[in-house]
Amino acid sequence: MSDQGDRVIELTEPRDLKGAEGADLQSPPPAAGRTGSAEPHSGSAARVLDTFGRPLANLRVSVTDRCNLRCQYCMPEEEYVWLPRDEILNFEEIRALVEIFAGLGVTKLRLTGGEPLLRRDLDQLLHMLAANPLLRDLALTTNGLLLGQYARALREAGLHRLTVSLDTLRPDRFRALVRRDGHAEVLQGIAAARAAGFSRIKLNAVVIRGFNDDELADLIDYGRDAGVEVRFIEYMDVGGATHWSMSQVVSRAEMLQRLESRFGAIEAVHANGSAPADRFVLPDGTRFGIISSTTRPFCGSCDRARLMPDGMWLLCLYAERGIDLKGMLRGGAPREEVAEAIADAWRGRTDRGAEQRRTMKARDVLFRVEDLRRDPHREMHTRGG
Ligand code: SAM
Ligand code: SF4
Ligand code: SF4
Repeated sequence: MSDQGDRVIELTEPRDLKGAEGADLQSPPPAAGRTGSAEPHSGSAARVLDTFGRPLANLRVSVTDRCNLRCQYCMPEEEYVWLPRDEILNFEEIRALVEIFAGLGVTKLRLTGGEPLLRRDLDQLLHMLAANPLLRDLALTTNGLLLGQYARALREAGLHRLTVSLDTLRPDRFRALVRRDGHAEVLQGIAAARAAGFSRIKLNAVVIRGFNDDELADLIDYGRDAGVEVRFIEYMDVGGATHWSMSQVVSRAEMLQRLESRFGAIEAVHANGSAPADRFVLPDGTRFGIISSTTRPFCGSCDRARLMPDGMWLLCLYAERGIDLKGMLRGGAPREEVAEAIADAWRGRTDRGAEQRRTMKARDVLFRVEDLRRDPHREMHTRGG
């Protein structure tokens, strides 16, 4: 990364990245002659490429670090350190930053969190963002608990796509996993989203051995009936996943094998460039996806960055340092200067965190609880999934 002066905030080095020496890292192939540069793309925005030729095209905006669930794989602790409220970006600041990112080539935006539907007046923010003609895809990831209440307003505000997270069809398991009630509300939320006109709803299910790995086929059946496409996610060692262990990860290969023995031959659907999910089709035409961030990471084509609720910008989910864009905005930096700082950082981007993690000899949790308490920027619910 190029020098960003005091805007770069160092985070504690993740435990296992320190032990990566000697690891046989697979570098994504650079796009010949086009690395670390900017070039025009369709539309009026510039296209900024990192050192591996990966464009800055996809931004995830975590609008709050707060959550109304406590999923064991994301927020397993009893207590959390939250970002100070006056540090949280207001809607105008988010709009301003999104405009700058869109001017640099971002066309896909996803709102996430924490639980984004806890952010008051989120539909107003969506309305503001939907007016940006450079954004071709405006999506949101939610745990679905409040979807019944907000689905229609989200649709009317201009949201294009929804992803709902639901890991189990069994209410007792749901309660054990998220340490709250609400399974019926999530199912109602999905139905409400369909009724509100969302047609491309995806359902994210993190698969954990010994917890819900016996529900793969049931989730597929549910998705087919409910009109949503299921995407199984390999359990990742990110942020607050302090109970993670490799033995709990069900690999993409194992998921496919299990589903094939139940449904018959599975075919791969032709891959779409930088999309994280590999998509497949069952003999009856049902489609599903697998996000294999742990065993088959897709860093080589990764075009996404993350903006945290307080304006800290990360070039990778596993990034050790962030760039304080809110500091620049509130310090009165002109937009061109913020844009140049972003472009400059992206041109120097070498991140491929998940690939590096995969090469760890003795892979353990990414952060200890004390590290997370020292700096909430390391949490998955702050970084946004
Ligand atoms: N609260 C919203 C939700 O749960 O959909 C949005 C934020 S959440 C951090 C985004 C996604 O990250 C969810 O689909 C969640 O299942 C996923 N996630 C969180 N921790 C994970 C982990 N350790 N491994 C894999 N996926 C994880
Ligand atoms: Fe669960 Fe999402 Fe909340 Fe994390 S942010 S605890 S994944 S609902
Ligand atoms: Fe992209 Fe980093 Fe995730 Fe790899 S680990 S896919 S580089 S965000």
